[in-house]
This record gives sequence, structure tokens and C-alpha cells, in this order.
Amino acid sequence: MSNATDVLQVNERVLNDWATKSDGPVALRLRQRLLPVEESGIIFPPTYADIGYNIDTLSDGTCVATIDSVGSQANRLEPIFKSESKAASDWLVPQIEIVIRQEACGQCQACQENVGDPKKANKECKKKRDVTRSLLDLAHRAADAVVQSSPELRKLVAPAFKKLQKGDAGPLCAIAPTSLVFGVWDSRGDTGEKRPRLVRSIIRAWHVEPLHAAAQFNSIWKLLDEGQREELKKEAKAKKTDLSEKGLADAPATFRKTKLQQYRDGSPNPEARVLGGVRVSGAIEREVTVNLVALRGLRGENDGETTAIRKYLLGLALRAATADIELFLREGCLLRYAENGDTWHKVPRRGDPEAIDLQPDAIAKYATAAAEHFRKKWPDVFNGKWPKEEGKAPELRYEFDLKEAKKLLEKKAAEEETAQPG
Ligand SMILES: [Zn+2]
Repeated sequence: MSNATDVLQVNERVLNDWATKSDGPVALRLRQRLLPVEESGIIFPPTYADIGYNIDTLSDGTCVATIDSVGSQANRLEPIFKSESKAASDWLVPQIEIVIRQEACGQCQACQENVGDPKKANKECKKKRDVTRSLLDLAHRAADAVVQSSPELRKLVAPAFKKLQKGDAGPLCAIAPTSLVFGVWDSRGDTGEKRPRLVRSIIRAWHVEPLHAAAQFNSIWKLLDEGQREELKKEAKAKKTDLSEKGLADAPATFRKTKLQQYRDGSPNPEARVLGGVRVSGAIEREVTVNLVALRGLRGENDGETTAIRKYLLGLALRAATADIELFLREGCLLRYAENGDTWHKVPRRGDPEAIDLQPDAIAKYATAAAEHFRKKWPDVFNGKWPKEEGKAPELRYEFDLKEAKKLLEKKAAEEETAQPG
């Protein structure tokens, strides 16, 4: 057994070694124990079409449920890099915004005069507001269709993917570093370049038992007289709709909408019933892996750049791994972190993983220092968007163009992403 004094204290020098030395550990691993807020221990996993919950039964009979998938975790983690600050000196990554459309303010005189006519209000409003989306919120990151449909931004990103294809991660790292941290696939662009995630996070619950739910929706149906019922029935038939679907007739909520049979041999089929969460009698665990082999596989245009890229991305990856994100995963699934439930290990190429002490403060300092190299490049990279005067806030806003989005529909994309793990 190791005691506290044996545990490796991770500092800047250690992190630099892991980022650069090829004989370093292959991965860093964080395991967190999570707790349900509700005393019953019942939580609601995500549901998937046809299968319902993703529950696997291991050979020893243990049932394990996915509580938050790798893809979902990445989408929850990436927004931690959004900054409220206008000062680029506070940013860990560029704060790129895409202007999707403009909408009427709803307050100016023109808007007041056209209350019933939103189209006209939109046209005549004098104080239109931009509806924007951060690049950090887009599911496919720098390879997202929205980026492809924003000509000015595409002009930045497309050459960066070209460079990446030739082995230089530097340009993409300067524009959209989180695309390298959380993985990216330029399936709609010209390169088809695909990079693995440096950070992979998943939440699982062990020893679970699925529960079912049933409900009865009571409508006003019983209050209606015979004539009213007949009229509604006739109208529903003419409109080819269902009265219970529109909330006008009583409906039991006992079966899900699936292809599965609701009854088998006259008995209700449990597989088709409405799901009511899972009871967890084992642990709920979040497992985060930082892939150092993939990190050290990235290169820049020279040795100096290679080191800068790896240090920066390691800093960002660890920032993402240690961020205490909110664990309100969905309705019925509010989790929290267990006290002293975090354990970090470094995983060597051979031999046992070794416990390490990785402090969030040290990581924040490391990430900020490593970002400096790229922060200096931003005025050049975002040339035209970056203010010439000192002290003025940069606004990295790029316009989405519907015409470009239409063109995408004609273009043949690489194989659908659904085949990707996670
Ligand atoms: Zn207005």
C-alpha cells in the first residue's frame, strides 16, 4: 500500500515531460464517485430508439447502465471554455461566435406597429438582434455544417484542416483547439481528416435494475355529452388524427412507442413498457481518460511548435477533465460528486497504474501559461476581426449563410458519423 508521501505530486515539470517524452505514461485516468440526489437511488438513464436504456449484462450477471455517453459528456464539457470576459487575455481558447440570423427586437416603434405580423416586424425593425451560437456549442466542432456554411470562418478553418492532414496541427490549434481536445472529423470538408479525442469521459452505473412506469391521462372526455363526442370522433377521423394524441380523450401511458410487440401470449411485454428509471445498488462512476499517446502523436511545423501544441492541449484536456460540471443530466437524473471520491492514476505502458496527486489549481495555472504561446498568434490568425487599438475587445463574429448551407445539401459527405463509437 502506498501512503500519501509516496503519491507523485504533479507539477509543471512533470506535465511537460508527459506532454513531450515518448516513454511517458500512455494515459491519465480520473475516476469519480457520483451520488444520486434522490434517496431512493433511482435515476433515469438516457433512452435510445428501440432499445430503451443501454444496459449490458456481464458474464457474472452484473448489469451496467450507461448514464451519460462519451459524446454527450464531450458536449457538456466543451462549453466550460466559454468566457464571459471581453478581454482576450482571460481566454483559454478563441471565443468564436457564429451569427445564425437576426431577429426583431420586439420593442422599437416598428416592432410595436407590426405586432401581428412578425415577418414585417423582422424587416422593419431598427434594432435587430443577432442570434448567435458559440463554436464551443456546435456538436461537430470545427467540422460542423454551420462552420461549413459560414464563408469567412470556413476560409480560416479549411486551410487549417489541410495543414492538419499534412501533419501540422498548429493552425487548427490556434483557431479551434477544443476540436483537437474532444476529437473532430472533417467529414463535410475537403480533407475527411479525423482526429481522436484526447479526453474521453463516460458515466456508468453498476448493478442496476430497470423499473417501469405507468400513468393514466384523464381528459375532459367524460364531461362531454354524446353529441359532442360524436362530433369530435368524426372530425378526428376526417383529419386522420387520434383524439387521445391531441389530449381530448383518456389515454393510458403504459407502453412506449417502439417496434416491439406490446403483448406476448396475452401478457404485457415488459420490453415494450414505459420506462421508469433504474435502481442502482452499486456505484455510479464517472471515468475520464486523457490519451497521452494521441496527444504525443500531434506535431507542429517545427520542434518548438510541437512542444507548444502538446503543452497547450494537455492543459486544456486536464482543465476539461477536472472541471466540476453540473450533473443535472436530464429530468430524473440529478447527480452530485461524492466527497473525496476522486482518484487520479497515471497509466504506464506496462505495469500497474500509479496514483498521482493532480490539483485543479496547478492545472489551471499550467493551462493559462501554455495558452500564452497561442494567444500571441490570435491577432494574426483572426486578422481583420482583431482590433488594431490596444485595449479594445476583439469580436470574433462570423456570419452563417443559408445559401452556403443549401450548397452543402448537394455535396456528398463522408460516411455518416453514426458509425463512430460514442
Ligand atoms: Zn424592433
